[in-house]
Amino acid sequence: MNALILVDVQNDFVPGGALPVAEGDQITPICNALQSHFDLVVATQDWHPKEHGSFAANHAGRKIGEMIDLHGLPQILWPVHCVQNTAGAAFVPGLKTDRIDRVFQKGTDAAIDSYSGFFDNGHRKATGLGDYLKQRGVSDVYIVGLATDYCVKFTALDARELGFTTHLIADACRGVNLKPGDVDAAIEQMRQAGVKIENSAEVMKKQS
Ligand SMILES: [Zn+2]
Repeated sequence: MNALILVDVQNDFVPGGALPVAEGDQITPICNALQSHFDLVVATQDWHPKEHGSFAANHAGRKIGEMIDLHGLPQILWPVHCVQNTAGAAFVPGLKTDRIDRVFQKGTDAAIDSYSGFFDNGHRKATGLGDYLKQRGVSDVYIVGLATDYCVKFTALDARELGFTTHLIADACRGVNLKPGDVDAAIEQMRQAGVKIENSAEVMKKQS
């Protein structure tokens, strides 16, 4: 059983959003085309309360991009993004959602950030995604979305750790590249962890 995981395909992560990923909107048609090749499609959604600790605006005197200690974990400060029930947190308008079986929201606890779709950054609480996939008999997960060097990477690494055969569909992801080279380094880190780096054309051929 194969599952497609759509990571954070949300308005705030595409051009025009609060935390835009360059070309983030270009993955939407690929995400749509891929969905019909999978029996199970799930999505993650960054879903923050407005007082979330990852927002620079919630730390007096701190700027976006600075690193702080957030309750014992290193935390990069981001612009306010993906606030619950705002347009920025909604899936991008072009994304097909009728085949999404379940949406797993993350980052809902103001005290801790959550890049991975499976766990928060301290691995303290699970979102339920791992158990859901195991209950459905999923062996292989295929990961697409935003952003390659954060939420996609940590979702893929956790998927490996949970024992799933993990595939990254690289052309259906885009990254932040806060530092030049971050995306390449993220892909290399995933590869070394045993994630299979593939592209959408070969996946659709294999899954047809
Ligand atoms: Zn976030």
